[in-house]
Amino acid sequence: MAKNIQAVRGMHDVLPEQTQSWQRVEKVFQQVLASYGYQEIRLPIVEKTELFNRSIGEVTDIVEKEMYTFDDRNGDSLTLRPEGTAGCLRAGIEHGLLHNQIQRLWYYGPMFRHERPQKGRYRQFYQLGVETYGMAGPDIDAEIIILGHRLWTQLGIRDKLELQLNTLGSKEERQHYREKLVVYFSKHIALLDDDSRRRLQTNPLRILDSKNPEVQALVEQAPTLMDSLGDESLQHFKGLTHLLDELGIDYKINCRLVRGLDYYGYTVFEWVTNDLGAQGTVCAGGRYDSLVEQLGARSSSAIGFAMGMERLMALVEMLGEASTAKRSIDVYMICVGDKTQAVGMVLAETLRTYLPTLKLQVHCGGGSFKSQFKKADKSGADIALIIGDDEVANDEVGVKSLRKKQDQNIMAQKEVGMYLQKALNITSSEG
Ligand code: ATP
Ligand code: MG
Repeated sequence: MAKNIQAVRGMHDVLPEQTQSWQRVEKVFQQVLASYGYQEIRLPIVEKTELFNRSIGEVTDIVEKEMYTFDDRNGDSLTLRPEGTAGCLRAGIEHGLLHNQIQRLWYYGPMFRHERPQKGRYRQFYQLGVETYGMAGPDIDAEIIILGHRLWTQLGIRDKLELQLNTLGSKEERQHYREKLVVYFSKHIALLDDDSRRRLQTNPLRILDSKNPEVQALVEQAPTLMDSLGDESLQHFKGLTHLLDELGIDYKINCRLVRGLDYYGYTVFEWVTNDLGAQGTVCAGGRYDSLVEQLGARSSSAIGFAMGMERLMALVEMLGEASTAKRSIDVYMICVGDKTQAVGMVLAETLRTYLPTLKLQVHCGGGSFKSQFKKADKSGADIALIIGDDEVANDEVGVKSLRKKQDQNIMAQKEVGMYLQKALNITSSEG
């Protein structure tokens, strides 16, 4: 026998038993985002490699080692998107959504990074992204934070997440801070790993983002950017914390928070949990005004966040609500006899038209009454409809509760719609 083909390492399937909770959570996204007036944008999964090189930064984990890059047949270098911010901004610029305009956008879909797979870290993973353009803040900064807060509240996981906040200041302030960092880390160069030593030359701020515990210990003692901020940056940051205070949102200021991408300035934040081990950041975002010009458009403001769906779902699943997930069907239709399949399928179509929310499965593949009834019972449905030769002859249908001890009923086919509507307490297309 041929060997089974398995999924690519780090790329996982979302199985039917999980999709119900995924869909429930996705619905919450849609409702909450709509309630703030955000609109969905759908973007390609593949972009020109140059887009990511130019935006994310050459000396970042993503661009250095995580991108799935390949040559198109005509030789163009393409990349599976490792994140959505760059593509969203590319689309915004390309379609004129930015110039002199305000946008509140969101997207949802798979991202690809060639990382070492482990719990909460995959090579294909889903992100919900929120991006806003044209607002200089800090009011919009507060809005996207409280929007996240509302998502966690609706999903019942607010207590599991802590908001960490920092500001990266202006480009000039970061430049000045960079010099301070170089002086500091150069003094302790013996304690730096190879990656960090290289970054000392190319992009010293990245050292603050190191996952190496020894480097992290050194980072703890490093000078902070907060200490060398000018008035404007401090005012922006104070404006944000003031709004969060007024809105009753708790936060912790974390001066080491720099984020793994180069395009951030001013506000950065992460929603972090202790419940997921090392992969504790569920949602992360920040302001990236300078990226707009960097991608060739007239200067504008931009701030957004991206949330990892797998990490979020791990938290949601801890609530143990999966077991109370709604059953997948309400009614199972059994058809035993020669002409019964056609009659049953026609009746099922009539019922689906009359009761748009009804979940009705028609048995396919024949078999005895006994074997079909067993399947009906196992399906989780509440009610079985039974079509046999007698029912076909008399335009009738058998109705049997699968959950209550009740005898089978026989009723006219044209009455069964109203019966199900009442029994299942659902609305009909006729209101
Ligand atoms: P990390 O520090 O964990 O590598 P990151 O800074 O690279 O995260 P972002 O690029 O900010 O992550 O992405 C936003 C969110 O997307 C993360 O907070 C996380 O929830 C999720 N995420 C990022 N990379 C992965 C991955 N490989 N697998 C699953 N989720 C991921
Ligand atoms: Mg990463």
